[in-house]
Amino acid sequence: MNNIVNIPDAGKKKRLVIIGGGFAGLELAKKADKKKYQVVLIDKNNYYQFQPLFYQVATGGLEPSSISYPHRKNFQKNKNVHFRMCEAQYVDPDKKFISTNIGDIPYNYLVISTGCNTNYFGNESLKDSTFSLKSISESLLVRNRILLSFEEALNTDDEDELREILSFVIVGGGATGVELSGALADMRKAIFPKDYPEIDFSKMEIHLVDASPRLLFGMSEKSSENAAETLKKRGVIIHQDISVKSYDKPYATLSDGSTLRSRNVFWVAGVKPNSLKGLADTSYNRGRLVINEYNQVDGYNNIFAIGDTALLISDKSPKGHPQVAQVALQMAKRLAKNLNKSESNSDWDKFVYSDRGSLATIGRNAAVADLGKFHFGGWFAWWLWLGVHILSIVGMRNKVSVFIDWVWSYLNYDVSLRLFIRPKFNKMYKEE
Ligand SMILES: Cc1cc2nc3c(=O)[nH]c(=O)nc-3n(C[C@H](O)[C@H](O)[C@H](O)COP(=O)(O)OP(=O)(O)OC[C@H]3O[C@@H](n4cnc5c(N)ncnc54)[C@H](O)[C@@H]3O)c2cc1C
Repeated sequence: MNNIVNIPDAGKKKRLVIIGGGFAGLELAKKADKKKYQVVLIDKNNYYQFQPLFYQVATGGLEPSSISYPHRKNFQKNKNVHFRMCEAQYVDPDKKFISTNIGDIPYNYLVISTGCNTNYFGNESLKDSTFSLKSISESLLVRNRILLSFEEALNTDDEDELREILSFVIVGGGATGVELSGALADMRKAIFPKDYPEIDFSKMEIHLVDASPRLLFGMSEKSSENAAETLKKRGVIIHQDISVKSYDKPYATLSDGSTLRSRNVFWVAGVKPNSLKGLADTSYNRGRLVINEYNQVDGYNNIFAIGDTALLISDKSPKGHPQVAQVALQMAKRLAKNLNKSESNSDWDKFVYSDRGSLATIGRNAAVADLGKFHFGGWFAWWLWLGVHILSIVGMRNKVSVFIDWVWSYLNYDVSLRLFIRPKFNKMYKEE
């Protein structure tokens, strides 16, 4: 070990290092017994991000600060939680430390909750040519791209070029793809024509390309049908059971050989785990960390994984649990209870996932809900979706600000944040 990160000595307490302050890591850091553990939370960002609402930042409905929360503010009153902004690079399980870009951090217990990143399914060129939606900054890039399209559209009278500029291709028919295309369709109807009266918006096309047999594949068939029907009614062109093979701007080539001409390709087709190197080969399964019912990573009793990056295979979940917020939160709560109870798993409770249902919004007054045996859509599901999301946002100020923004846009058929903000770099700026 060299260059140890400067963190106060843990004294008689055990040091619990948590990598990743997302849904799972943040919940664990809050719930862990601070009398028993010195908690060290590390994250490459100094804030928590509420990912389910990234698409609203991307479409100008919400400010980034409404769905993010500074880690330091979360733990202002808790002197036994130490936050360090850094990126974990690997773990040395024998010497019990993690290596990060600011130095090494020794641990007694290590929890890996590093979540996922965008999956390009091996076609890494798509990473540079398309826009993804896996962070606040990517959401802002998408927002800028959308706004820039209309500014560009004003500068051409070439019909083909205009269609290329006004064509939006969203790749991936999961919740994010459905939400993004639904939001764009709503804006095409109620907002963009007011901002850009010189543009003929009948030429704006929204394509949703989905490789699975139906939209929202993780939800019920009824919800999938409902989502597809609503999107079609709102003018979204759905390409089902087809994948995007490549994108050579401005042509996206689909798996059936056809092409879509567009300057705006948004890739929300899947995720892959953010793996942390250094553990035994048997601890990984397609990048996810294999865990037992106590969240212990295979082969280690003091290293745990929770959330999207963890893979718990059981009879009930032969392919692991869905990579959603509820699983991450429930794993964190269970692990906190277990670690707070005792330091060995002899009297710990096993993790059992309780599925509370799924919701996805399609646009104004339209969402779908699968709650146990009940599958429904429409207005009521939409209000349910709004309520659940407001309650889930971290921070009272954020809840209030999202509520006000939503009420305002609902009443006025408007979103007020269509600002094209480009960061300016100079030689004083250095990103670590
Ligand atoms: C656009 C989008 C929409 C979504 N919509 C929904 C939805 O509607 N409902 C739902 O249930 N789920 C939704 N999800 C999934 C949900 O957000 C995830 O399941 C959840 O975030 C998983 O929590 P986590 O704690 O495992 O990971 P995350 O919340 O992703 O947190 C991981 C954290 O680890 C940090 N990190 C990663 N690598 C490192 C490293 N090497 N060093 C330091 N820090 C690191 C990251 O900065 C991040 O803060 C959505 C996801 C996305 C991207």
